[in-house]
Amino acid sequence: MSDCIFCKIAAGEIPATVAYEDDEIMAFEDINPKAPVHLLIIPKQHLDTLNDAGADHGQLLGRMTLMAAELAGEKGVAKGGYRVLMNCNPDGGQEVFHLHMHLIGGRRLGPMA
Ligand code: 5GP
Ligand code: ZN
Repeated sequence: MSDCIFCKIAAGEIPATVAYEDDEIMAFEDINPKAPVHLLIIPKQHLDTLNDAGADHGQLLGRMTLMAAELAGEKGVAKGGYRVLMNCNPDGGQEVFHLHMHLIGGRRLGPMA
């Protein structure tokens, strides 16, 4: 989508600090980190929200989840622990409408708000 921030990051049109990239997925640092480790993992394909994913996207979503765990290891937070989450639509706190997964860690996160 031409006016989507994350599509522009995926296309290299907006800079980001990229932690991982392949043909299908990309991980980069959140511009406003909530913890010492805060990465966003996106599919390069535009989907507005998790509601727009179907059975065809199962492998993609699985790869994103496994990438979160791998990056947690690379960032040194796997043993201490971390949080992986997806916000969906306004009640879920979603602000950028290109499906993404947050990997947050590096401090004691406490209970979910
Ligand atoms: P959401 O609330 O939609 O789940 O999370 C969107 C996240 O994207 C927020 O944590 C926000 O800081 C991050 N974000 C918004 N715009 C940009 C940007 O241009 N670059 C990067 N790296 N992160 C962004
Ligand atoms: Zn997009």
